[in-house]
Amino acid sequence: MSSRGVRSIIERTFNCPYFKKNNDVLEKAYDKHSSMVETIKRVLEKKGMDCHQEFSITHGNVRGKIDLLCSRGDDEEYIIEVKSSKFSRSRVMKDFLQLASYTYVLVQQDKGNKRFIPVLVYSYGSKLLFLKVKKESKLWSILIKFGEMVVENLKSADSHTSRRMYVISELCYYCLNDNCPFKQSSEEDHAGSK
Ligand code: SF4
Repeated sequence: MSSRGVRSIIERTFNCPYFKKNNDVLEKAYDKHSSMVETIKRVLEKKGMDCHQEFSITHGNVRGKIDLLCSRGDDEEYIIEVKSSKFSRSRVMKDFLQLASYTYVLVQQDKGNKRFIPVLVYSYGSKLLFLKVKKESKLWSILIKFGEMVVENLKSADSHTSRRMYVISELCYYCLNDNCPFKQSSEEDHAGSK
């Protein structure tokens, strides 16, 4: 069975199948993401943590890469996913599912020795916004359930999707698909928004 990348399948499930990428915008986003990851790594290492960048995980045929997996050498491990985009309600579900999937895989492989702390980081103006999920919290149980749902489904599901519907989202601002019937209205909406 072919391997399944958590991030790309979540993106494919939520994103518009007609999205036409703008390489300039994407390159800038990649650069911003790398620089954010480097900055966070430097800051955490100054605080005594040891960080693995692009930490690979696999679970059956499911695979993924965690931006940063950081620890002080004790039983606590920070699973950090960095997002170069601003925090938005339309993005957070995808990001949460990605973080949930990675956390679920690590919890499965660990056998209860470690205390994992999943964290999403967004850019917030010139600052960084850290969203941390505490282990004792209700959100932790939801995160693990969602992670299980995504990973266990990915292991067996057919990766082909027949969904062919336009999906209006923040991606429309960067989309180059001039044949899209929603393109004009999304640009107008954007121009009018603050
Ligand atoms: S502009 Fe149209 S094709 Fe592009 S992402 Fe938005 S809905 Fe999809």
